[in-house]
Amino acid sequence: MDIKYFDNAATTRIKEEVLEEMFPYLSVEYGNPSSVYSIGRKARKAIEEARKQIASLINCKSYEIYFTSCGSESDNMALKGLSYAQMYKKSGKDHIITSKIEHPAIINTCKTLEKQGFRITYVDVDENGLVNLNSLENSITDKTFLISIMYANNEIGTIEPIDEIAKIAHKHNILFHTDAVQAVGNIQIDVQKSNIDMLSLSGHKIYAPKGIGALYVKKGIEFERFLDGGHQERDKRSGTENVAEIVALGKACQIAEKNLDQYHRKLIDLRDYFISSIKNRLPNVKINGSMENRLPGNCHLSFDNIESGELLLKLDEVGICASGGSACSSGDNSISYVLAAIGLPSNLAKGALRITFGDYNTIEEVDFLVDALEKIIKEKF
Ligand SMILES: *Cc1c(COP(=O)(O)O)cnc(C)c1O
Repeated sequence: MDIKYFDNAATTRIKEEVLEEMFPYLSVEYGNPSSVYSIGRKARKAIEEARKQIASLINCKSYEIYFTSCGSESDNMALKGLSYAQMYKKSGKDHIITSKIEHPAIINTCKTLEKQGFRITYVDVDENGLVNLNSLENSITDKTFLISIMYANNEIGTIEPIDEIAKIAHKHNILFHTDAVQAVGNIQIDVQKSNIDMLSLSGHKIYAPKGIGALYVKKGIEFERFLDGGHQERDKRSGTENVAEIVALGKACQIAEKNLDQYHRKLIDLRDYFISSIKNRLPNVKINGSMENRLPGNCHLSFDNIESGELLLKLDEVGICASGGSACSSGDNSISYVLAAIGLPSNLAKGALRITFGDYNTIEEVDFLVDALEKIIKEKF
C-alpha cells in the first residue's frame, strides 16, 4: 500500500541529496577525524564544513556549534551543562524557569535536576499555547540562572515569543536556552538577532538521519560536559564523531537555508488547503493552537467523541500516517499534558489529531486525507 505520510513532526524521510552526501563517510572515507593522516584529515574537514553549514542556517559562528547524538542530548547538555556549572562554582543559583508544554527531553531533564536539588518553575501557557510573559517574569528570583522555552511546540505547533523571552531573561542577567528542534529548517531563525544563548536542534526532523543533533552555545558561556572521555568537540562532548551523520546534518541545513522561503510557502499552502477542505466537509472540527503564531506545516485538530487511537488505526488501514498528539506519548490513552496545559476539554483532547506536512506531500495526498477523514468520522455517527 502507498504510504501517505503526514507525521513530519515525528520524523522526516531522509533526502536523496543528504544520503548521497553522507554515504562516502560510511564506506571509503572511514578515517577517524582525530587522526593525522589524509583520510583522518578528510573526515575532520567534512565535519568542519558541516559545522559551517549549520552555523549559517541559524546565523552563529561555527565554533559555537557542538555535535550531539540527538535533540534530546542537546537539551540535556544545555540544561545539565549550565546547572552543573552553577553547582561546581557554588554560585548559590539553583533556579530554572521553563514551560508546561516543553518536550519530554526538557521536562524530564528538569525532573532529574529537581532530584539533584535544583528548583524548577513550569510557567503556564494560554489557550493557544503561548507562554504567559508576565508569569514568566514574575517567577524570576535572584537564584534564577536559566530560562528554557521551546521555539515551537511539537504537538500544537505554537511558535513562542522568543525575542521577548530573551529580552526578559537578559534584563535579569539570566541565560536563555531554546529547544528549536521543531523550528529549525521550518522558519527563519537568527540567534544573534533574537539574542539566544543556547539552541538545540535535531537532524531527523529536517530530512537528515535519526541519531544526530547539535547544540549552539554562544561564545563565552561556561557549561560542564556530561559525557566524559576524549577531547572531541573542544572537550565538551567526548566520543568519536559520527562523521557520516554530521555531514548529513550539515547538508540538510544547507538545503533548508537555500529553500526556506519556498518550503515555508509550500507547507502553508498544503496546510491551509487542508484546513479549508476539512472545515467544509466536517464543520464540527476544532483547530487547536494559535493560527497566527504557528509552524507552517502543523495542523492540530479535534473531533468530539472520537478516540484518537481508534482514528489513527482507521487512517493506518488506508496507509495514512498521522499522530494523536506527540509520538512520545502515543500508545497511551492519557490526555497529552500539552493539551491539558492549553485547557482543551478532555472530550476534545481525547479525539486530537496532529497532521504535520512535509516536503514530499502533495495536494492529491491532502485530498485523499480529507476524503478518508470524512468517511471515518461520518461512519461513526
Ligand atoms: C523531536 C524533538 C526532540 C527530540 O529530538 P531527538 O533527536 O528525537 O532526540 C526534542 N524537542 C522537540 C521539540 C522535538 O520535537
